[in-house]
Amino acid sequence: MSTGIASLLDKNFHDRSDILAMLQCSDEEAPLLYRRAAAVRDRYVGNHVYLRGLIEYSNICGKNCLYCGVRRENTKIDRYTLNREEVLEAAMTAYKLNLGSIAIQSGENSSVAFIDSIEELVRTIRQMTDGKLGITLSLGEQSSETYKRWFEAGAHRYLLRIETSSQALYRRVHPDDDMHRYHRRLECLKTIQEIGYQTGTGVMVGLPFQTLGDLADDITFMRDFDIDMCGMGPFIEHSDTPLGERGTENLFLKERFNLTLRMIAIMRIIMKDINIVASTAMQTIDPFGREKAISCGANVVMPNLTPARYRAGYQIYEGKPGYREVNESNVSGLNLDLIPGISLGLGTWGDTPHFGRRINRR
Ligand code: SAH
Ligand code: SF4
Repeated sequence: MSTGIASLLDKNFHDRSDILAMLQCSDEEAPLLYRRAAAVRDRYVGNHVYLRGLIEYSNICGKNCLYCGVRRENTKIDRYTLNREEVLEAAMTAYKLNLGSIAIQSGENSSVAFIDSIEELVRTIRQMTDGKLGITLSLGEQSSETYKRWFEAGAHRYLLRIETSSQALYRRVHPDDDMHRYHRRLECLKTIQEIGYQTGTGVMVGLPFQTLGDLADDITFMRDFDIDMCGMGPFIEHSDTPLGERGTENLFLKERFNLTLRMIAIMRIIMKDINIVASTAMQTIDPFGREKAISCGANVVMPNLTPARYRAGYQIYEGKPGYREVNESNVSGLNLDLIPGISLGLGTWGDTPHFGRRINRR
């Protein structure tokens, strides 16, 4: 294998076995993979990092995913929903700090009140910012009518991770009931794309029972789906969940971290002009995890704008950074000295060239 990585990188098309070989490359070879991915990023989407101010709107969730601390059956957390003023204030902070766009994320809720509130908030934020602040939603599985309403109100990007492209693994990390069906999630993702959202998906890396083959399949799944945005992060156990009760060891977290860097680099090399997030979960394992992800080809970060007093309630996984990271002197929260040559793409939506190409092909 050791002779392989350089020639693999030069291939125009990577099949599953090429992807597996890249995932398995040695630690000595990995920097080659990472450097190539960063060069591809610079060439196809520029040497900028775009920002999405993250607003964690509510931790009320109707689902019970076996990995997530916000799951319905976790009775140890206080449930909250931000009020209208709190959301608008966070959005205006993003606007004034010139972040360019926000992402509203939440536990899954399909009540009429929830759907109406999001629609009204999206519309108001668009008005208050003269249509200049981009709006991404990450609000789980909804009906196509709901996705359409939110799109018409002014949201233009949607993130719905498939979590794993393996149906068998999906089944093992979710309850076996009609609220948690792989096919429903996939249908939602297709609907989002058809409506015209810039469509993002992604997976967790290092889930129990997950194999390297599953991860290689995840990459081909995302390529075949022709996604515009990708968000991947290491799985991190939460002790109040069925998959986290037994805790974990740092060694495993480090491995998942390194595997996520490889996944990011391979995605960049294969899909070239999409947006790829340097996730907060990376920062949870390594204080400079996001900077490292950027060095491996990522180009988006999501600084947290959720009012500080709610942060403890949105612990999807354990150890999620809770401090306030957005301030005027450092709007990204990144240590830019660690990523020379990278500048912040401020005041712009930071859309991908990929989305424009995809739409033009239709
Ligand atoms: N409820 C929405 C959005 C919030 S959850 C949804 O599920 O789509 C956002 C993401 O957090 C999920 O897609 C999942 O990939 C990630 N997540 C949940 N639990 C996690 C854990 N224990 N470790 C790492 N990521 C996790
Ligand atoms: Fe709810 Fe999303 Fe967590 Fe699943 S991953 S329990 S849908 S917040």
